[in-house]
Amino acid sequence: MSNEKIPYKIYLSEDELPKQWYNVRADMKKKPAPLLNPGTGKPVTAEELGAVFCDELVKQELDDTTPYIDIPEEILSFYKMYRPAPLVRAYCLEKALGTPAKIYYKFEGNNTSGSHKLNSAIAQAYYAKKQGLKGVTTETGAGQWGTALSMACSYLDLDCKVYMVKVSYEQKPFRREVMRTYGASVTPSPSVTTEVGRKILEEFPDTNGSLGCAISEAVEAATHTEGYRYVLGSVLSQVLLHQSVIGLEAKTAMDKYGIKPDIIIGCAGGGSNLGGLISPFMGEKLRGEADYRFIAVEPASCPSFTRGVYAYDFCDTGKVCPLQKMYTLGSGFMPSANHAGGLRYHGMSAVLSELYDQGLMEARSVEQTAVFEAAQRFARVEGILPAPESSHAIKAAIDEALKCKETGEEKTILFGLTGTGYFDMYAYAAYNDGTMTDYIPTDEEIAASTANLPKFE
Ligand SMILES: *Cc1c(COP(=O)(O)O)cnc(C)c1O
Repeated sequence: MSNEKIPYKIYLSEDELPKQWYNVRADMKKKPAPLLNPGTGKPVTAEELGAVFCDELVKQELDDTTPYIDIPEEILSFYKMYRPAPLVRAYCLEKALGTPAKIYYKFEGNNTSGSHKLNSAIAQAYYAKKQGLKGVTTETGAGQWGTALSMACSYLDLDCKVYMVKVSYEQKPFRREVMRTYGASVTPSPSVTTEVGRKILEEFPDTNGSLGCAISEAVEAATHTEGYRYVLGSVLSQVLLHQSVIGLEAKTAMDKYGIKPDIIIGCAGGGSNLGGLISPFMGEKLRGEADYRFIAVEPASCPSFTRGVYAYDFCDTGKVCPLQKMYTLGSGFMPSANHAGGLRYHGMSAVLSELYDQGLMEARSVEQTAVFEAAQRFARVEGILPAPESSHAIKAAIDEALKCKETGEEKTILFGLTGTGYFDMYAYAAYNDGTMTDYIPTDEEIAASTANLPKFE
């Protein structure tokens, strides 16, 4: 097949959809560090986690040895509504850049949530339903996760309570209305509905909120309401597992045409899309079967990998969740309000943190105006209006393709186009008006925030 002309879009048939998720932890010789109980400093037990998460997801969270996990039939049929997602050869972008590089992107924006988040939302809602729960609580930053979860919950007839970071609640009223259309209740965070929210408001009355703070509220709401559990849209190893459908599909599509990527790029907020995209390729690298370059791209305003420290930290501002060893800016880190995207989380997936620490993956940070410049360039030739988060990956892909132009190398680049940006038009407006700024935290700010890391190890 390798001599055939590569089509603009490589679609898979329904039969070619992955039937199992791939758990990259199984192939890691040095595993990610275990989650710790913040009270005892000891690894959390399944029983302790069971108070917060539903049972099957606890099992997946703690399983670092099973390589393949069956996708239940009901989840597969939901996936079939919007998957397989196309793998697109960016011929038009290549031409516009004048690069000899071959650029591919895996597009996850073809569903109402506008992002890859639905891949994990349906899995998490399914296991909650199967356990006989009444509902789930969660946080949402930019709104994609809350939207995805509300879609999955309405499909399965589960109640859905969303704590939405206040700045996004105000800046993205339409996201809020999509969630309410799917039957979710949406509360701006921090709120007075939880103890932790009231405490944070007392200390910081003018706060714009943060993901870490919304997580604390959602966890409290779940653990204080009978028949509810908490679900999280990124960071956790179970989420990376579910998102492996992205990478598995991409790999099947590329294998069909004998394409081997040299560089694989993804934006990194909590690490779920990047982890999902690279998992099967990283598996090959870990098993010594192939080699790839992996690049995580994060915003300069919230640079967990590139300027954070690798240490145990709280996953939330209220310090109620288990401690995770990860690249972190400190759980009290409040990213600048001018950057309201879905990449504002202070920490990073434990799996990706460990892979990065072992030198198996690279990371770089990019500034906001440069990201929007790349977004506009991409939109004008490829026809898709990208999400600001996804545009971090576009920026790095363009930079790599331009390097190829200088050297004449015909590298193959694959990047994750995680979603569409229709709900981000205020940010696009700021870019178009020339009022967008690049906020970069100072070393002092980061040092002050990481000085408060808990001491466990
Ligand atoms: C949430 C989100 C991200 C970042 O989350 P990860 O867990 O790092 O993947 C990226 N792009 C879009 C469109 C998102 O909604």
